Amino acid sequence: MSTINTDVLVVGAGPAGLTASALLAKLKVPSITVTKYDGTADSPRAHITNQRTVEVLRDLGVEEAVMSKAMPQDKMATQVFATSFSGMELSRLSTWGGGVERRSDYEQGSPCAMCNIPQHVLEPIILDAAKANGAEIRFGTELIEISQDSDWAYAKVRERHGDKEYTIQAKYVLGADGARSTVGSKAGFDYEGEVALGDAISVWLKADLTKYTKHRSGALTYICPPGSDIWLSCWPCVNAWDEWNPFFLRYARARGDASEETLKKHIAEAIGDPSIKFEIKKITRWQVNHMVASALPERSTVPGGRRGSSSPARKRLGKQHLHPGTPITSSGSSHSSFRVKPTTHSLIHTIPNGSRSGVR
Ligand SMILES: Cc1cc2nc3c(=O)[nH]c(=O)nc-3n(C[C@H](O)[C@H](O)[C@H](O)COP(=O)(O)OP(=O)(O)OC[C@H]3O[C@@H](n4cnc5c(N)ncnc54)[C@H](O)[C@@H]3O)c2cc1C
Repeated sequence: MSTINTDVLVVGAGPAGLTASALLAKLKVPSITVTKYDGTADSPRAHITNQRTVEVLRDLGVEEAVMSKAMPQDKMATQVFATSFSGMELSRLSTWGGGVERRSDYEQGSPCAMCNIPQHVLEPIILDAAKANGAEIRFGTELIEISQDSDWAYAKVRERHGDKEYTIQAKYVLGADGARSTVGSKAGFDYEGEVALGDAISVWLKADLTKYTKHRSGALTYICPPGSDIWLSCWPCVNAWDEWNPFFLRYARARGDASEETLKKHIAEAIGDPSIKFEIKKITRWQVNHMVASALPERSTVPGGRRGSSSPARKRLGKQHLHPGTPITSSGSSHSSFRVKPTTHSLIHTIPNGSRSGVR
């Protein structure tokens, strides 16, 4: 099996991995990014992008490109709870710096404004920046195994088309491979928290709801339909105000029927106006989890060379390192990395931020 060398291996090309890849390339650090899928996200997913993240995007030189495609902060600011879009409004909150009480907090907090940009729109912008910086990104390449000694990390990868396998030998590995991280599991990370907090069904759809949303525009609208087996649906706005990615939660975390026919019923119920036509683009089931790494940062230091690999903890690829980190999205995400320094240090770290969600 052939082996190639690099300084940094990035596993995953979601928002986190792509950003790491683009920034490493900008800093002229040799790196390779592998990702098992053939392209960027094919659905909206994460969307509310916080100020700190926009600062990172500014550093990358893509803030303007992002803002030109995003819903700006002032349009995100109203959060409505209602029995349906056309029905009774139950409450209206000011969110994300909307309203005079909080606006100055946000303005003082950062030179950058937060925004609402769906993941399938954001990722190509970061990918373009990464490519422009000269990043090497290998799509369709899956991490299978990973190990380390005191000098290098060894990642066995497989090309998904053709089944070719090879090893990437790297000084550092950044695991940006999402909620079901192979880096995390193969490197023996422990997580704590709760899983299966709710079963969610996301439906990406087109429906022109301008007449019900333009005057109370928000990134999220919550619908609580009386007498329904749906407890709540949350409607992230994908494009103001004709594209949406609602997810539906049933009472008592029940799974229930997720057929297109049933979902159409729930969508019609949530809109509450039979004259509004809608078209479903994609349906995805996922699970709400709330997981964090169970240890705080820890670095083990040994006096040099390969002696570093002698302790059991280091044989497990080092210890966990929970990084307060910068989530790329407001919902946060889980990243893990481990790093081998040729001389004295071994460090594994992971950057989970609150909720983790994964497709079943
Ligand atoms: C259906 C769905 C709906 C969601 N809805 C929302 C939402 O409404 N709001 C919200 O804020 N968040 C939502 N999320 C969560 C959001 O998508 C994640 O928080 C975000 O994508 C995390 O970014 P990331 O870069 O850490 O990882 P991801 O975007 O998950 O990217 C992981 C990357 O790792 C790669 N990868 C995984 N395993 C391997 C491997 N073994 N080898 C090589 N590459 C690998 C994948 O190809 C991918 O590129 C949703 C997620 C899903 C799945």
